[in-house]
Amino acid sequence: MNTDSFALRHIGIREEDLSGMLKTIGVDSLDELIYQTIPDDIRLKEGLQLDAPMTEQEFLTHIHELSRLNEVYKSYIGLGYHESITPSVIKRNILENPGWYTAYTPYQAEIAQGRLEALLNYQTMVCDLTGMELANASLLDESTAAAEAMTMLYDIRSRDQKKNGCVRFFVSEEVLPQTLSLLQTRANPLGIELVVGDHRNVELNQDFFGVLLQYPGKYGQVFDYAGFVANAKSQDIKVAVAADILSLVLLTPPGEFGADVVVGTTQRFGIPLGYGGPHAAYFATRDEFKRNIPGRIIGVTRDTDGARALRMALQTREQHIKRDKATSNICTAQVLLAVMAGAYAVYHGPKGLKYIADKVHNNTLFLADGLEKMGIYQLNSAFFDTLLVKADAAKVKAVAEKRKVNFHYVDEGTVSISLNEATTRKRALEILSIFSEALGKETPKDDKLGRGTSIPEALMRTSEFLTHEVFNSYHSETQLMRYLKRLERKDLALNHSMISLGSCTMKLNAATEMLPLSMPEWGNIHPFVPVEQAKGYHKVLEDLADDLTTITGFAATSLQPNSGAQGEYAGLMTIRAYHESRGDTNRNICIIPASAHGTNPASAVMAGMQVVVTKTDEKGNIDLADLEEKVLKHSENLAALMVTYPSTHGVFESSIRKITRLIHEHGGQVYMDGANMNAQVGLTNPAIIGADVCHLNLHKTFAIPHGGGGPGVGPICVAAQLAPFLPGNPVIPTGGKNAITAISAAPWGSALACLISYGYIKMLGADGLQKATEIAILNANYIKERLEGKYQVLYTGEMGRAAHEMIIDCRPFKLKNIEVTDIAKRLMDYGFHAPTVSFPVAGTMMIEPTESEGLSELDRFCDAMISIREEIDAIGEGNDQNVLKNAPHTMEMVTSDHWSFPYTRQQAAYPLPYVKENKFWPSIRRVDEAYGDRNLICTCAPIEAYADSE
Ligand SMILES: *Cc1c(COP(=O)(O)O)cnc(C)c1O
Repeated sequence: MNTDSFALRHIGIREEDLSGMLKTIGVDSLDELIYQTIPDDIRLKEGLQLDAPMTEQEFLTHIHELSRLNEVYKSYIGLGYHESITPSVIKRNILENPGWYTAYTPYQAEIAQGRLEALLNYQTMVCDLTGMELANASLLDESTAAAEAMTMLYDIRSRDQKKNGCVRFFVSEEVLPQTLSLLQTRANPLGIELVVGDHRNVELNQDFFGVLLQYPGKYGQVFDYAGFVANAKSQDIKVAVAADILSLVLLTPPGEFGADVVVGTTQRFGIPLGYGGPHAAYFATRDEFKRNIPGRIIGVTRDTDGARALRMALQTREQHIKRDKATSNICTAQVLLAVMAGAYAVYHGPKGLKYIADKVHNNTLFLADGLEKMGIYQLNSAFFDTLLVKADAAKVKAVAEKRKVNFHYVDEGTVSISLNEATTRKRALEILSIFSEALGKETPKDDKLGRGTSIPEALMRTSEFLTHEVFNSYHSETQLMRYLKRLERKDLALNHSMISLGSCTMKLNAATEMLPLSMPEWGNIHPFVPVEQAKGYHKVLEDLADDLTTITGFAATSLQPNSGAQGEYAGLMTIRAYHESRGDTNRNICIIPASAHGTNPASAVMAGMQVVVTKTDEKGNIDLADLEEKVLKHSENLAALMVTYPSTHGVFESSIRKITRLIHEHGGQVYMDGANMNAQVGLTNPAIIGADVCHLNLHKTFAIPHGGGGPGVGPICVAAQLAPFLPGNPVIPTGGKNAITAISAAPWGSALACLISYGYIKMLGADGLQKATEIAILNANYIKERLEGKYQVLYTGEMGRAAHEMIIDCRPFKLKNIEVTDIAKRLMDYGFHAPTVSFPVAGTMMIEPTESEGLSELDRFCDAMISIREEIDAIGEGNDQNVLKNAPHTMEMVTSDHWSFPYTRQQAAYPLPYVKENKFWPSIRRVDEAYGDRNLICTCAPIEAYADSE
């Protein structure tokens, strides 16, 4: 046996465990189990054609060699991306720490207080810097955040009688090109009419519902928008501003000149460029729009004992839960990056940020003065970090590239230069010398250059920011390291125990897959560098795209979408473009099964489609008769079917080919939600089942860690007829022949995170990937058998097997007044994170163990579930003082001198012997959801303010 194979490290089940597990399940071999699980007519007849697997050591050498194909220039390109410095303490303790990056979205608040606090810090930082009242816990990138601002303002316009029919949205021509492209993508299907122009001479009128400004403008000019905003407001036109977060340290924040929404990226707060992402975008607005905000908001509430507790606020209003009434499909966001950006603000504090912003500004002044001394002029009358220089672009470019420096070449005679935190005086001098060489000028020797400021007095920030204690307490490395550890200890992540979240595929995120993320040759590349400088990236991205194309059986792949939901939207937009290209502009009906994930209908509506819901039968399958009826009824206008496979019920529906054929016969395309791809890889694929396009959640099946709720990567893989429409980018050409406009800001989305999935595929190879799928199915069926008789499994395939996950019914326990939530909270006392609760069926749990878990962990989990079932059985009539209702139990409760519960402390905290080995203490008692929603606080308010509201 080759013990050096990565598959043995990734897959948790040992060879010697196999026969016992198969026996429990009641089959003779793994093949027999797979035969009973996956319908024969969709089985792949041969293995995947992929490169032979590399060992971990081989992969590290390989990725290092590829990294050297990237040429790391100093990039002063700007356009929303800037080199930044990740403080080492943050890199080591967050980015490189599985305690942070393997956590799940903090739905189970009692075991997620650490990242909830980190996100509250982030929200507070955003509110302070933008001058707004409320911020969410991140969006995918600046451009999608701007689009979310537009659609939110569009949605709320109907509150105002006068604005009800308005469809016009003014976009300043100073907006970043990728943002404009994205606004076009999003506006078109909704019927929003974009008017692009110069804010100084546009005639706003009653037909406009909103505007978007860029602050400073795309080439660095700092405009005074106060007059414009006042005029807009006088006509009830809402104002969104895309603002550079670092500039807000020195500039009047948009909230102080009347903005209704402020968006931007926090990339320059310590997040690597990574050739485009992942980075956290921020979204801040006024309190009055709190129910319309896209994404998640962290808020303050209290626990059972009245202690301060954090949790996701207004949670039931996370937009996509509203399905086809949603105005946003955001699910996975950018939590890990938001945590890092928030920690950057905690570490530097207000003084540190001021120092950094001053340094950037002073170096820019120095450069402007130096250029002027050389007789070279720049056009920005007021600027923060960017100059717009009049010079022969070709000459400057030739010298700059020789010196490994990138500027942004606006046109033949104009160059824009954006400085950043990493720009030293020496680097600024180098820029001057590039211009002197290129244009034959003498470099000035004056060291008094760059004094004063370029910011007009009226635009200087006077308000304080980051005054809260948390931003003024952890400025030494020891302090920050301990603060981060304190937060981390409150959170249960994959480095503690199995997180069996159905549909979310919480598998191993191997260290070897993660290591390249720390390398500067991958981290320090701006997304808009000439592609020849990113050869290493292109090798990885093209190879990864090819492998995903092979795995799905399709013809082409786009890596651009930054999440599964964004992939859904991208896929539906390619379907839309395909129909339009054939003159079928009427095709706008999207059929979606009732059991689909909420993002499906939300994405369909965003793509301008009308959702028709089709029923699910009592076995959890699509109701064929109902589907046929709906297809016939809408035959003329059928655009697409969206289907999850295996279904969200964890079943390989055997009629899937019949279903997809039916859709095709009526001119529709089939969109497959690929969230459950972990049950398919190497055994079947979306092309065989008859789909035309699918997204893959690389942060589920392909080993990118969940990061506490992001980053994600949601590529779409498409059949040949859809390939021409894969999304493009306005700055760097990419996508299909007839590419639709941008889906994400960066041409290849979150390129840095793609390295992880690349490593996963390269190290597992075809056999390893297939084995992983088989073991994922084995593990699920093993749990199913072990829970037999204790919990009812709701749906199975025709031969009684689960796919890679299963739903257990917790509704019968209502007889004892036990809700599914009580079981979820009780699992914490056993050291486990709950499976998925109440999706896709209310009152149930969906368990997905994945292939990475070993037999002993599966057994511990099953023992916990069985023990909980026994605890439920033991509850007497009308007894609400039981271990489930009071769960989770904190250390404070259990060690208290006062104990009034009718069960022992031992039963509360150590219900099974194994718990002692690896006890996890929830840091708070059960959160009070309703209280927090009634008293919404989404920033680090002083404790006194919190006490006041009680
Ligand atoms: C996770 C998931 C999605 C959404 O993906 P994100 O990456 O969170 O946007 C969509 N559908 C299903 C079935 C999922 O499990």
